[in-house]
Amino acid sequence: MKCPYCGGLESRVIDSRSLDDGVRRRRSCSACGARFTTYERVQSHNIFVVKKDGRREEFNRDKLSAGIRKACEKRPLPTGTIDKLIDGVEAELYHLGKAEIPSSLIGDLVMQRLEKLDHIAYIRFASVYREFADIGALKQAVDNLAVGAEVTPANQLPLLPSEAVNSLVGQRGR
Ligand SMILES: [Zn+2]
Repeated sequence: MKCPYCGGLESRVIDSRSLDDGVRRRRSCSACGARFTTYERVQSHNIFVVKKDGRREEFNRDKLSAGIRKACEKRPLPTGTIDKLIDGVEAELYHLGKAEIPSSLIGDLVMQRLEKLDHIAYIRFASVYREFADIGALKQAVDNLAVGAEVTPANQLPLLPSEAVNSLVGQRGR
């Protein structure tokens, strides 16, 4: 969203309000700090989410947002980060131009982003979303994080302690 004052392309959402037919967003330009308002309208086509059991329901940003916010609860994330993540996922969904999207794809898009943002939030979201039907999937997710951690800067958030994961694994049995 281009800043009307300086033309900067980065802005963060400082307030978001649902309207009958869209969303009104108050934004703050990352370059010059100016505040401006954008309106987002529902597109002519609605996206339907196909759930695991085959049921379809209309894509609901609020629902997606609630799940992500829950995963990010009490995590030290800068203001606006979660909104930006949700915006990104939503934009990508509409960009696909499909009428129906499997819920698993939405989960994957969220997880890709959370993985870069906060490992604890990632694991929380993944454990709810994927339900970790098999313990191998949980271990795999944690192992993947561990591999990624080696190349990330030292100021990154700590990983889920391996003891915690092991106790989880133990509880579920093998
Ligand atoms: Zn600006």
